[in-house]
Amino acid sequence: RKFEDAGLHPAMLENVKLAGYAVPTPIQQYCLPAVFKGYDIVACAQTGSGKTAAFLIPVLSRLMGKAKKLAAPRPNPVTFQPGITPPVRAEPLVLIVCPNRELATQIFDEARRFCYRTMLRPCVVYGGGPVVEQIMQLAKGCDVLIGTPGRLCDFINRPHVLTLKRLRYMIIDEADEMLHSDWETELNNIMSGGDQEEGNIKYMMFSATFPKEARALAGKHLANDHVRIR
Ligand code: AMP
Repeated sequence: RKFEDAGLHPAMLENVKLAGYAVPTPIQQYCLPAVFKGYDIVACAQTGSGKTAAFLIPVLSRLMGKAKKLAAPRPNPVTFQPGITPPVRAEPLVLIVCPNRELATQIFDEARRFCYRTMLRPCVVYGGGPVVEQIMQLAKGCDVLIGTPGRLCDFINRPHVLTLKRLRYMIIDEADEMLHSDWETELNNIMSGGDQEEGNIKYMMFSATFPKEARALAGKHLANDHVRIR
């Protein structure tokens, strides 16, 4: 299989080529069609397998086709000043939750590559980073948000910072790591925080191992007909 035959949006195909990816890795070969068919996914994946691109490429590609319709309000950044509440909340279309700053930054860098020359704007937030600066970044508009569970919950709970009401895709990366680090409550809050009524959020969960807590999380939030990839 080739990326050319995967049905990607032209802008995404271009960015995949710019990244120098010639052929999809095995996890990408299975993830791409499953995302295009609209399934929730649980994938057993190690770092180095190409798992980041396995969720970024199909999810962002799908949204590129709808970017104009889905585009969030784009406030003029010059109107924002520290200490002044931003007039709009960030309303991302994609949320990627991961255990730490290093992974968040890596995913953000890869998301930036794939969003190049598109309407989609990526953003990253993590614990230990500057709160005000991160809020200001969010307020400039954010379509693809990458973050760690504690900081995301903090921002969701603050007024005028972050809402999941426009969310289309939620990706939980290294779920086992986050559960080991006692983020279970935060993960449950985040995973049930979107637009549940319409049931239009697709969930993907990636993990190296699947302890019972991870299986419970998937069982609680993912569609019953989710695809399992090993
Ligand atoms: P990950 O498993 O997401 O941490 O990715 C491991 C590394 O593989 C990263 O440096 C990616 O840039 C790279 N990578 C991902 N997919 C491909 C691909 N299809 N071809 C070549 N390199 C890739």
